[in-house]
Amino acid sequence: MFIAVEGIRKYRYPLIIASIFVIIGLFMWYVRDVRYFLLFFSIGVTDGFVRSLVQNYPKLKQPLRISLMVAIGGGLFFGLSIVSRVNFQFSQIFFDAYEMVVTGALIQLMVARVILPLFAGSAFCSRVCWDGAFFELTNSKVVSKRKPVKRNEYVAWGYLFLVIITAFIVAYNVHVSKDETIRLYWIIGENLYIIIVGTVLTHFFGSRGYCRLICPFLTISGLFSRFSLIKIKPDNSKECINCNKCNKACPMLIDVKECVTNNMAVKSNTCILCERCVSSCPKDILSLRG
Ligand code: SF4
Ligand code: SF4
Ligand code: SF4
Repeated sequence: MFIAVEGIRKYRYPLIIASIFVIIGLFMWYVRDVRYFLLFFSIGVTDGFVRSLVQNYPKLKQPLRISLMVAIGGGLFFGLSIVSRVNFQFSQIFFDAYEMVVTGALIQLMVARVILPLFAGSAFCSRVCWDGAFFELTNSKVVSKRKPVKRNEYVAWGYLFLVIITAFIVAYNVHVSKDETIRLYWIIGENLYIIIVGTVLTHFFGSRGYCRLICPFLTISGLFSRFSLIKIKPDNSKECINCNKCNKACPMLIDVKECVTNNMAVKSNTCILCERCVSSCPKDILSLRG
């Protein structure tokens, strides 16, 4: 009995996160179909399994997280976007609106950008996003030769507005022309555009340029992630040796050390819960918890 209670305590966060995904999956099965349950179930169980593994092998945390992200993100992009032609990007919501249907794009927006951030912040960005997987591998440790540019909320919201207007116009033209091939070109083109713009922004303005500065999805989830049940929090802040490793590790250029100094959780709307700061701290001061 004691061992069982200890086991539940030790693995409570993997269990909580896996359960959230399974509950969302059951809900999606009820409102849509079993494919959505399988999608959320597999993300939740895989993430829970990796988190449990990491409890015993903390040094494997980042390689395991990134491998999981590449596998899930890559699978979603090729399996659902390319083969099934379900576009999860923002623009698809407008394509669907003209057809009067609800598909993965709106569901993704509501689940990953509104509901999930209330429980697990913008963890979608460090666990599932396929463009994010590319940025993890290529854009996350890039230090620009120039001084990194800080996020400007007016620019981020202005970009979101621009994306909505563009998608609205293109979706109208697709609807009128009834040319289905445009959808596939749009899916591939939009993701290529994100990767190219992201890499250019990172080169000039510092690590994870697209995610950090303009991504419309993060702009929306950032509204809710500040209320997240789990966050990056410091323990024993007095043990901090001011080595600055947490700040150097953060791809979103958040001042984690200042949060530690003030004994506060990281509340930045751009934190993607990647836990690179956690892995980098030599004093084990930081953790992801409720
Ligand atoms: S910020 Fe945008 S592009 Fe970056 S990981 Fe999140 S959803 Fe993907
Ligand atoms: S604060 Fe930590 S968890 Fe958040 S983005 Fe930066 S490194 Fe990742
Ligand atoms: S990495 Fe740890 S010890 Fe170093 S500054 Fe950050 S919180 Fe302090």
